[in-house]
Amino acid sequence: MKDVEMEQKLRNEAKALLEEGKVDYIIGFEPGSLKFTATPLITKDRGDVERLVIDPFIVNNLAVFLTELKGRIGIVVKGCDSRSVVSLIQDNKVAREDVVIIGVPCPGLIDVSRIETLLGKDRDELDEIAREGDKVIATLNGKRKEFPVTEVLFDNCLGCELPTPQEYDVLLGEPTSPVAERSASQAKIGQLKETTPQQRWEFWKEQFSRCIKCYACRNVCPACFCKRCFVEESEPQWLLPVPRWQENLMFQAVRNIHVAGRCTDCGECERACPVNIPLRSLTKEMYDIVGDLFQFKAGMDKDAPSLMTHYEQEEAEDFIR
Ligand code: SF4
Ligand code: SF4
Ligand code: SF4
Repeated sequence: MKDVEMEQKLRNEAKALLEEGKVDYIIGFEPGSLKFTATPLITKDRGDVERLVIDPFIVNNLAVFLTELKGRIGIVVKGCDSRSVVSLIQDNKVAREDVVIIGVPCPGLIDVSRIETLLGKDRDELDEIAREGDKVIATLNGKRKEFPVTEVLFDNCLGCELPTPQEYDVLLGEPTSPVAERSASQAKIGQLKETTPQQRWEFWKEQFSRCIKCYACRNVCPACFCKRCFVEESEPQWLLPVPRWQENLMFQAVRNIHVAGRCTDCGECERACPVNIPLRSLTKEMYDIVGDLFQFKAGMDKDAPSLMTHYEQEEAEDFIR
């Protein structure tokens, strides 16, 4: 996805938007301080736009910043992120006229830690990582090592249905096709589903015993937009402020219900977790349940009502009627 043409087009667009006063801020990516990483760049300064990058490491879902900034914003989005922007519009958290959506057709993001594991090398030892069609090439001491994308893309990218933004003002390249490796994408989730309820309970008990309550999973998620999260409420106190796995699991269970119909399977919560809890096994399951029960995918139509705030006479639950 390192595409010099697309990157230059982005810089030109961003510069023009700032110069013409069409936006107050640009939110995009710049190179991170570690090799093969990118980090969010939020700027009002047109001199900064030369630092903007598009490469296979632009993991963050930048839509999370839209509810934190005031003014008109030009934002760089991949397919999943664009749906988060649309979902925020559906929830009246963002006004469509206040965003200029700069869309990146996205062939999937590379999970560098998988390459490190496969090669037994640290990222600092690698010369280059590049995508060539359905292969990812890592170069080490001048030698090329090829990996099929199924081995080194993030799971959510392998199962991505809509890699090209559906809603945009500028599209930086030609629409791209999904990788559509659903079985590879679902492998971790599928293994868990084959276990018994008791085994799953034990699994999650062990996982959430390691949770350090940093709330990174919540903080990186555009669908978690409450000004005051229920975990911080003291009246009523929904959760005890004690480091117990039960509280940690309850936090995540409630968070999943709050993001149901808003989650776009962007994968950010799992990536952000410092203790590697496989959170996507919960969020993707909820994403699929929402799809099956309501035939609803988050962020597909900015003019449609949001799933959890809209009720119909024919709803299954009696209490709504
Ligand atoms: S989920 Fe799709 S759009 Fe999002 S980063 Fe992965 S491939 Fe790109
Ligand atoms: S719950 Fe996770 S995967 Fe879903 S939108 Fe939030 S950060 Fe992305
Ligand atoms: S990011 Fe991980 S450790 Fe932090 S609160 Fe979420 S689940 Fe717990």
